[in-house]
Amino acid sequence: MKPFIYSANPSRVIFGSGTLKQVVSEVQRLGIKRPLVLSTPEQSRHADRVEELLKGADGIDSTGQFNNATMHTPLEVTLEAMKIIEENRIDGLIAIGGGSTIGLGKAIALRTDLPQIVLPTTYAGSEMTPIIGQRENGIKTTQISPKVLPEVVIYDVDFTMTLPPGLSATSGVNAIAHAVEALYAQNGNPVISLMAEEGIRALAKGLPVIAENPNDVEARTNALYGAWLCGSCLGHVGMSVHHKLCHVLGGTFNLPHADTHTIVLPHALAYNAPHIPEAMSRIANALGHTDAIEGLNELLTKLKVKRALKEVGMPEDGVDKAADLATKNAYWNPRALEREPLREVIRRAWAGEPAA
Ligand code: NAD
Repeated sequence: MKPFIYSANPSRVIFGSGTLKQVVSEVQRLGIKRPLVLSTPEQSRHADRVEELLKGADGIDSTGQFNNATMHTPLEVTLEAMKIIEENRIDGLIAIGGGSTIGLGKAIALRTDLPQIVLPTTYAGSEMTPIIGQRENGIKTTQISPKVLPEVVIYDVDFTMTLPPGLSATSGVNAIAHAVEALYAQNGNPVISLMAEEGIRALAKGLPVIAENPNDVEARTNALYGAWLCGSCLGHVGMSVHHKLCHVLGGTFNLPHADTHTIVLPHALAYNAPHIPEAMSRIANALGHTDAIEGLNELLTKLKVKRALKEVGMPEDGVDKAADLATKNAYWNPRALEREPLREVIRRAWAGEPAA
């Protein structure tokens, strides 16, 4: 066994159905008196439910909402929310939503160190990480800070029931991608590898059922459980070429986050495959298959997801630009980053050809 270091990120996780109601005791436990509830315009009804529970509870003086969270955490939206925080002397944040809403809470916490309670409603996993991505003047940058790691995460399966089947599928594969790369991370460790395998297994079990019946509670529970485990992987170990490619592609061509991860994953895995035999066998095992890439392809076929970057808005002349950007800054990957083979990975993903 390789030597390893394992340090766990400090956060409290509550998981189940109907767990929303525990938001009151968690707010009280953290001593928050003036919480602000964050969401997107589409999920303002979810934010209303949180606010209804908190209103009039012991020790809570006032509650408010900011429902303008936006993809990629644009600076202007964060500044708009900061004004409300200051004017209303807000002393804690409750984010209910996907990565975009959680990103807004993190951006505020980065500036204020306010405590965060997060209720995730997609499978993206941001709630388990100390990572924050922000967009300013069209450029997205990422940083790591312990200030942005949420203090409490409340997973309530009930709130995931409304996640549309298409987004459930791609968001779930986004989560699987975290676990896949954790299995060959340079700073990987046996605990995270166990979580990664179990995370892939749970999502591979739940997602095909959700694609057929989005109201299946057991499948939704498996998927959210898997998303938690995969989000933990992302929060604890470094990611490699797959995440780098998705960051470059999403940031440069403004592509949808979860679709991009879904399309790129088999191609990025095929690039690394000859260098990661143990990870390949663990991924295959978790997918219930003898071969990791074939298993992944079968899962994606069942999920009926888009398979080509050209279908989600990437221009053909972007292939070279992406290859240049993906090899520009050195970062660790199990296989050396070679421009021509990587360009071929991007071209295949653009065209929707099988991974090779
Ligand atoms: P999202 O948060 O942008 O949500 C997409 C849409 O789905 C939104 O309109 C949202 O309101 C809606 N939605 C979410 N949950 C719903 C539900 N249960 N029912 C109905 N509608 C629902 O999507 P996402 O994929 O979760 O997040 C993507 C963003 O998160 C990207 O900006 C990405 O960079 C970031 N992210 C960050 C990290 C990190 O560690 N910092 C990790 C993963 C993703």
